[in-house]
Amino acid sequence: MTGSSTGIGMTSQRTRDRLIKRLRDMGIVDQRVLEAIQQTPRHLFVEEALASRAYEDTALPIGYGQTISQPYIVALMTQTLLAGGPMRAVLEVGGGSGYQTALLARLVDEVYSVERIGPLMHIARRRLFSSGYRNIHYKVSDGSWGWPEHAPYDGIMVTAAPVDVPETLLQQLATGGRMVIPVGAADSQELLLITANEEGVSRTHVEHVNFVPLISGQGQP
Ligand code: SAM
Repeated sequence: MTGSSTGIGMTSQRTRDRLIKRLRDMGIVDQRVLEAIQQTPRHLFVEEALASRAYEDTALPIGYGQTISQPYIVALMTQTLLAGGPMRAVLEVGGGSGYQTALLARLVDEVYSVERIGPLMHIARRRLFSSGYRNIHYKVSDGSWGWPEHAPYDGIMVTAAPVDVPETLLQQLATGGRMVIPVGAADSQELLLITANEEGVSRTHVEHVNFVPLISGQGQP
């Protein structure tokens, strides 16, 4: 993988170190997650005009009315997903810029990434391929239907907010699997951890959040 060192000057390295310190101070303790963030050049996932702001702890526009999520929220979601141990297959709904996809690809065996906006996914795919990632599978589709052909997944990460958890995604979660998903209307969303076991699923509140909506069509694609 070549993504770790592409075009990084000293300034960028210092601002990245500052971001890692901030994430630690905010309670991100999983060393694997912090290392993945340290090694993934977020400035390559935003437009050049915004590159100087890439290591601020803030969401940034990526076009088509969408955003690359705030680093703290990305770190929190990744840490929460992986807290149960190593994962083989993870479904990501809402690939966006590909930044969260890249982090996941460093931390699990295979990532299945679904994004509904074709041009966003094509840009992310090109970016990730040229950075050396080879364990990511891409699909342009309505991710509320998941990606049934590769189910069940050890982990499901949703980065846009439905009003409630899509039943189809629950069905694609392996027994023992974990899903991290923002849920709710625009002004009152919460991040949930959903764990599946033999008896069913349980939901745990993680954090209050503010995501773009999961836009879902009427019927199954
Ligand atoms: N994780 C992304 C990143 O690191 O750039 C940020 C994703 S952005 C907050 C949410 C993404 O979810 C957008 O790219 C949006 O197009 C996508 N999205 C919204 N509804 C979707 C759906 N039904 N299926 C797939 N993707 C969807």
